[in-house]
Amino acid sequence: MKKIAICSGSFDPITKGHVDIISRAADVFDAVVVAILTNSKKEPLFSVEERQAQIHEATQSLANVEVDAFEGLLMTYAREKQASAIIRGLRAVSDFEYEMQVAAMNKHIAPEIETFFMMTNNAYSYLSSSIVKEAAKYQTNVDDLVPPGVSKALREKFADQ
Ligand code: ADP
Repeated sequence: MKKIAICSGSFDPITKGHVDIISRAADVFDAVVVAILTNSKKEPLFSVEERQAQIHEATQSLANVEVDAFEGLLMTYAREKQASAIIRGLRAVSDFEYEMQVAAMNKHIAPEIETFFMMTNNAYSYLSSSIVKEAAKYQTNVDDLVPPGVSKALREKFADQ
């Protein structure tokens, strides 16, 4: 049976840290679904449609990656998608505690689905969507940190500030 993994997150916006995790997951699994969580508590900078288009563009060279969005429980969505794994990226130790809690709850909800943690690429260990937004807001060049389409979109978003 085809092994499907889900890379979930807010991706507001997608960074090169995310792309690194997604492409490594795509090397290991038959198919990877990048799933944007739409009911996040956070007020997003980019709409779901904008984020979906940005992820699509950033992963277009990866034939077994698809982009989608979901609302509600990740495990319900994962079952719908017939996924066998959830992939999460780990950066600093600070990610660990929260991720462990979520993984434990997800295991409780859907014992048949495994959560896999992938260590960040060292080059991106301090990279987050929020730090990128903060930098871009003050006209800092973030070309090294995000896909080209995102860099352009950030410049446009903050052009009038
Ligand atoms: P969430 O709001 O669910 O944390 P994010 O979009 O911030 O959504 O992150 C989605 C996933 O990508 C998480 O597993 C997160 O740990 C991982 N991630 C984010 N940035 C990086 C990075 N620079 N390197 C590795 N993994 C990352």
